[in-house]
Amino acid sequence: MYLHSVNRAKDRPDRRVLLHRSFYLNETPRLSLRCRLRGHRPVVDGHDSLYGNRDRPRWVVCDRCGVRPEPQGHLDPDLWDVGQPYTGPFNPGQPMSPAVRKQLVARGFDEGIRLPGAWPTAPTGGLATELVIGRSHATGINLTVGCAGAESPLSGHIGLGPLGALYLHTERHGARVQRRFNAVGYDSRTISLDFHNGRVWWRVWARENESRSTDPWWMDGNLAIHPAHYLLGARTSEAVHEKRATGTVYLPDGTTHDVQLRLEQRRYGRPRGRKTTTWLLDWDCPTGIPTRNDSWKGDDTYGGAFSVPAETAAEEGWADAVCVLIAESCMRAREHYGYQQSA
Ligand SMILES: [Zn+2]
Repeated sequence: MYLHSVNRAKDRPDRRVLLHRSFYLNETPRLSLRCRLRGHRPVVDGHDSLYGNRDRPRWVVCDRCGVRPEPQGHLDPDLWDVGQPYTGPFNPGQPMSPAVRKQLVARGFDEGIRLPGAWPTAPTGGLATELVIGRSHATGINLTVGCAGAESPLSGHIGLGPLGALYLHTERHGARVQRRFNAVGYDSRTISLDFHNGRVWWRVWARENESRSTDPWWMDGNLAIHPAHYLLGARTSEAVHEKRATGTVYLPDGTTHDVQLRLEQRRYGRPRGRKTTTWLLDWDCPTGIPTRNDSWKGDDTYGGAFSVPAETAAEEGWADAVCVLIAESCMRAREHYGYQQSA
């Protein structure tokens, strides 16, 4: 068992983060006391290909602790169903190298080689945590139970917003919970409660990366919890005004670039509350403005969007004024990418 840690704060320095560090506890013994005392309980595990009959791997796993024999076995899918107790023989004395086994099978010497091997005598797993003290990007709590193919049987986090957050995931530990609650299929399942944008969001045993229209209503939902939502109405955002123009961007290197400009005024707020207005500029330069040199990434900027001060937007000559802002943003991009003008 050994512990090491990595300082994450170095990658993204932030004054509001006092500590951001990952801890890894590797090679920890897996807690399977019952299996140690009474032996493992072998069942058949595997999956059927979504694309027909050809790929239907079957192997052996302990139903209680999730440990697999080494090798895990390569059973006949016509004889063994997923979830069925494995009552067949084991062959603990076979070559352990997968390459050697594969060659033997390819040459027809597969006597016993497709059978599961010996149970590992000292199975281990790992734990990884990430601790943030100070500003974090999570406000809520989550637990995910991985599917059979997932990298991590269990993962989760607790986020306290500006105070910090703690993330945790396991390697192989927790396979028992995974076997018990999410043994078959390809979907990791998640339970979470999050607070953001004045709402509480919940997911109850929902697929981790997907929502389906057939899911029951309670599986995935949200509710406004900000008092203003009920007193002043739902927050809205609407476009109230739009101006279009063409313009020319003059760069200090003497080049000029024709651009199309669209300036949109948006109003945010609640029906019975205070409103704020912003101006957003969308610009397009079909011929592109060179801002970097590494050609494999595409060297030209073909447009962008940023907000514009209200005074600038209100000016008679707003198109010229925003072209100056575009030139400044292109010069900042050139500086960022270390752009060198070709001779
Ligand atoms: Zn076991």
